[in-house]
Amino acid sequence: MARFIFVAGGVMSGIGKGVATASIGKILQSKGFKVTAIKIDPYINVDAGTMNPIEHGEVFVTKDGVECDQDVGNYERFLNEELTTENYITTGRVYETVIRKERNLEYGGKCVEVVPHIPDEVISRIQKAARKTKADFVLIEIGGTVGEYQNLLFLEAGRMMKLQHPKDVLFILVSYLPVPRIIGEMKTKPTQYAVRTLNSAGIQPDIIIARSEMPLDQPRKNKISIFCNVQEKDVISAPDAESIYEVPINFEKDNLGKLILKKFGIRTKKENLKDWQRLVKIIKNAKKKVKIGIVGKYFKTGDFTLTDSYISVIEAVKHSAWFYKTKPELTWLSSEVYEKNATALKELKNFDGIIVPGGFGNRGVEGKIKVIEYCRKNKIPYLGLCLGMQLAVVEFARNICQMKDAHTTEIVEHCKYPVIDTLSEQKTLIREKKYGGTMRLGEYPCLIKKGSRAHLAYLKSRQGEQNKKGDILVQERHRHRYELNNEFRKNLEDKGLIMSGINPERDLVEIIEISQHPFFVAVQFHPEFKSKPLSPSPLFREFIRAAIHRST
Ligand code: GLN
Repeated sequence: MARFIFVAGGVMSGIGKGVATASIGKILQSKGFKVTAIKIDPYINVDAGTMNPIEHGEVFVTKDGVECDQDVGNYERFLNEELTTENYITTGRVYETVIRKERNLEYGGKCVEVVPHIPDEVISRIQKAARKTKADFVLIEIGGTVGEYQNLLFLEAGRMMKLQHPKDVLFILVSYLPVPRIIGEMKTKPTQYAVRTLNSAGIQPDIIIARSEMPLDQPRKNKISIFCNVQEKDVISAPDAESIYEVPINFEKDNLGKLILKKFGIRTKKENLKDWQRLVKIIKNAKKKVKIGIVGKYFKTGDFTLTDSYISVIEAVKHSAWFYKTKPELTWLSSEVYEKNATALKELKNFDGIIVPGGFGNRGVEGKIKVIEYCRKNKIPYLGLCLGMQLAVVEFARNICQMKDAHTTEIVEHCKYPVIDTLSEQKTLIREKKYGGTMRLGEYPCLIKKGSRAHLAYLKSRQGEQNKKGDILVQERHRHRYELNNEFRKNLEDKGLIMSGINPERDLVEIIEISQHPFFVAVQFHPEFKSKPLSPSPLFREFIRAAIHRST
């Protein structure tokens, strides 16, 4: 029988509710339980695929091809589990199902109403996830902040579940305690209001996780306890941490795991966070640095630089750097700069490695191509991800194969050398404007040729299955509409572009590389989605190894 833990957020967004949820999961897992986690996004969007990454952060892709919120990535990284469609709920998905059922006469002539039918559908989705995963604990993170109109129905679903199974449902509020500079004191009032708002939805939090710049002191703990109607021991101090991977360890300092189990009336003696304790030690003690530049365009919002759009790439770089006991130093490079300013290119020499990650549309593309050319010529380790692979092909075609007008048809539809183009089924989808959830999504196989750089990477990491010839079959996750155009494959190969990874089902090029270079590998898929803190992505690992080599 599964137990359910709802996690809601108080005061404001961006306080690490996703990491808190993932950390609770990690703690329970370390005590010997099977855990799964669900993210609820209160958007009408059916999935995150149609959201702008600057507004909503990275679009994470599960192995079964769901485009979801970046928190699902955190859950996978913390739990070391592969999650699926059941782990992501949006308002759009819920309404879509209810309307479909109504059209199919599945409500037996009843008036279909927002309450109870919408919360009922939410509950049935949560229970389905519990059944499918056979989890002992299902964590449900309700997106947004308490008090918003849009997540009310999800709180309602939680309230109804608690009413039906009072012993099996727990509520945790992750709230924020500001320390205003001019006052110089941690304030609890916003959290008090958040709890009252939650109370007005019929919910009393069982535990409050108090996020703040600094640890919670005794007077504040006492105040929260009295005003928010929780015991002092149920208030967990959650100060800012140097690394997100430290959060479970910090929570355990306040005995969060035991506290949760006690509330459910469960006992366990098991305890094993040792591997993460070791990891956190490495993170804190790493001195040697590796400087990585990430060239993108989804960082700026007004006067602020946000890097959420690239979170899995950032985490994958970190995992690999820590593997080599090195401190990653990441710099955000705006691709547009390289279009106007040729001298800026020379500064790339100061980096040990450059990544061009995924992306869409016209802006900054020529700058990225210039960066790739510079890395190729100046032997700077280069890792291209999805668009970063497609543009590496364009660069090679233009500058090595003398196809001056080579491009991707995403940017110039009728170019002379469409070295990157869509598959025929995608052409129909684009014509019919069927954009949502129709890219090449999720896990696909890739056969990696023996003797290549990519092969060495997977071999060293002991990932994938080796066949009789010695080639390695791996599964990696995709999110794109465009592909290397097979019509140009021979031309490119003849000039030295190595096609080291091929999708065996449709004969599509998945990995390209060049020789006589410290590391120049670019992939059509997104290896960052499968990187875990204790088992880094093989390609990132090899890339970082080459970068460290350059730095010394
Ligand atoms: N825009 C490109 C495509 O759709 C690349 C996508 C990506 O980088 N994720 O194929």
